[in-house]
Amino acid sequence: MKKMDLHIHTTCSQHWLWGPDAVSTPRQVVKTAIRKGLSGIAVTDHDTLRGGFVASKIARKLDKDFLVIPGIEVKCREGDIIALGLESEPKGHMGNFSAVEAVETLRDMGALVIAPHPFGWGGVGKHLDDTGFDAVEGFNASQLRCVNTRAKMAAYKLGLPMVAGSDAHYHVNVGNGLTAIDCDENSVDSIIAAIGKGKVKICREKQTRNRLIVYTFRIAKFYKTIIWKPTCDEY
Ligand SMILES: [Zn+2]
Repeated sequence: MKKMDLHIHTTCSQHWLWGPDAVSTPRQVVKTAIRKGLSGIAVTDHDTLRGGFVASKIARKLDKDFLVIPGIEVKCREGDIIALGLESEPKGHMGNFSAVEAVETLRDMGALVIAPHPFGWGGVGKHLDDTGFDAVEGFNASQLRCVNTRAKMAAYKLGLPMVAGSDAHYHVNVGNGLTAIDCDENSVDSIIAAIGKGKVKICREKQTRNRLIVYTFRIAKFYKTIIWKPTCDEY
């Protein structure tokens, strides 16, 4: 049984609207997850796989049993989509794709496709029903409780596997949302296959309460008024 946080951002993350959107480097994220006793994480930066690859490299050096799944969070017309297990990034911005087209494209590229916070800000909402996701994020530590309840109800109704993640943009929050995955093999492919087969259960739900730090960082970065400039390369 693995315990993994399947939704984390690092300083590589570039949000389509406000640009740099996470405070902590891939190294800080990996170290925190190992210290908290997680079996692994999925790094799901906005529009880039780089954070996932960097984190994966760091993890191999720090603890060979700790697994990093490189992922990406992309925005399509209807909302955000998480893709796990890609080897390369989708070409161009997916903003003009419908959810159905985006899911098809990502799946053709070999990804497992998850609907993050479907009823929160940036979620696909009612399009969840007919888009063909592989799994639904039933708990997102950065979203309101009512948003998560709606997601769980929808996943249950659709018979889709439910996963959890912290959606951490600050490493302190890593592990606030955890998914237990029934898989003994320690490889990205086997973990992804187990999620797709529904061998998952949400096992930690801790609401994130220090979001102000991230908002301050975003504003500061946006106006380029701070000297401290952590980059994706800081590992
Ligand atoms: Zn996110």
